[in-house]
Amino acid sequence: MNEHDGDIMEKDTILKFDKFIARKKPNNIHQEKPCPFCVSEGLSEILETHDSIILVKNKYPVVQDAFQTVLIETDDCEAELSEYSKPHLYKLIRFGVKKWFEMEEQGNYKSVSFFKNYGPLSGGSVRHPHMQIIGFYDVDYRENLKEGYFKGDEIHSSNGVQLNLSTMPMIGFTEFNIILDDDLTGIDQAAEYVQKTVHYILHLYNGKGCSSYNLFFYHWLDKIYIKVVPRYPTTPLFVGYGFRQVFSDPYVLIEDFQKHSF
Ligand SMILES: [Zn+2]
Repeated sequence: MNEHDGDIMEKDTILKFDKFIARKKPNNIHQEKPCPFCVSEGLSEILETHDSIILVKNKYPVVQDAFQTVLIETDDCEAELSEYSKPHLYKLIRFGVKKWFEMEEQGNYKSVSFFKNYGPLSGGSVRHPHMQIIGFYDVDYRENLKEGYFKGDEIHSSNGVQLNLSTMPMIGFTEFNIILDDDLTGIDQAAEYVQKTVHYILHLYNGKGCSSYNLFFYHWLDKIYIKVVPRYPTTPLFVGYGFRQVFSDPYVLIEDFQKHSF
């Protein structure tokens, strides 16, 4: 076998997307429709509630071979993570991570993802603030990770938690990383870094802010890694050729972020 046949050896991590379920899925970002997370009788099976935070089964599980849940962050449809009070922010991130870890510990899944889409370019379809926890029966996202994806130039660190700007991103251009131990001693500090980063992305990034972002949590090597990614159309040099890019002057962004947020 020659080295170009590598794809035969690689594990199959291609997820199957159900477009029949997707067609029925409400979309109130791109269409004028009532909010499916405000109409509580419209909610699918409630798994747990924690004050105004609700964990439900996803009514439209578009990913096959997976158990999909939605974490509704608050009963305020117009709220946004960067504006939460500190107590609500800590409560939300602690509860989300607890439910994520519980799904991992159940042992039913090869891996469990925890993430958030926000804004029209994030891949999300519902405006109401929510995150998702998805257990995959057959695939392990950790097989796709490299330690370099989370390395970067430090923006801030405190209480054993680091916030950095990727120097070797998964895709590019801008990926913010937050790294903490999985004993969760730094969880509130990490929540604060998430909030500051999201606020910076929405209001100040690139001089005028960016409408969309994703938040991804990874549990790997006894750490929690959190990626916060402003979203634009993916660069064609990555789509077509796999080239990842970073800005040539990262310190301009880092200094701007530090000046406004710390
Ligand atoms: Zn709503």
